[in-house]
Amino acid sequence: MPLWTLRGLRRGIVTTRYPARPDPSSALLPTPPAFRPEVLTPGLADRLVAVCPSRALARDGDLLVFDVGACTACGRCQAEAPHAAGDSGEFELAATVREHLVKRIPLGGRSA
Ligand code: SF4
Repeated sequence: MPLWTLRGLRRGIVTTRYPARPDPSSALLPTPPAFRPEVLTPGLADRLVAVCPSRALARDGDLLVFDVGACTACGRCQAEAPHAAGDSGEFELAATVREHLVKRIPLGGRSA
């Protein structure tokens, strides 16, 4: 057994208690955006799609399709439209079905 393991067992040092308790550092993690449907217009959705480098966003008619599994939480969409996209704070994103990571967000804003 490596010495660092013995030292850790002797001192009882742990680096995290997750998932039994949330790790304090989770508040500092970048998380995927949360979009506000009421301010999303087709034009704004197209701008968000254009700035997304990982193709996590697409427009399908009156829907903004958000593939959370492809999102890298880069923040570009939030920088483009801070009134329409905020931090979700969600970092536990595991799913057993791929489709559960795809959100369909209705465009509810009025076009100018
Ligand atoms: S945070 Fe970045 S990767 Fe995620 S949807 Fe916005 S632009 Fe795309």
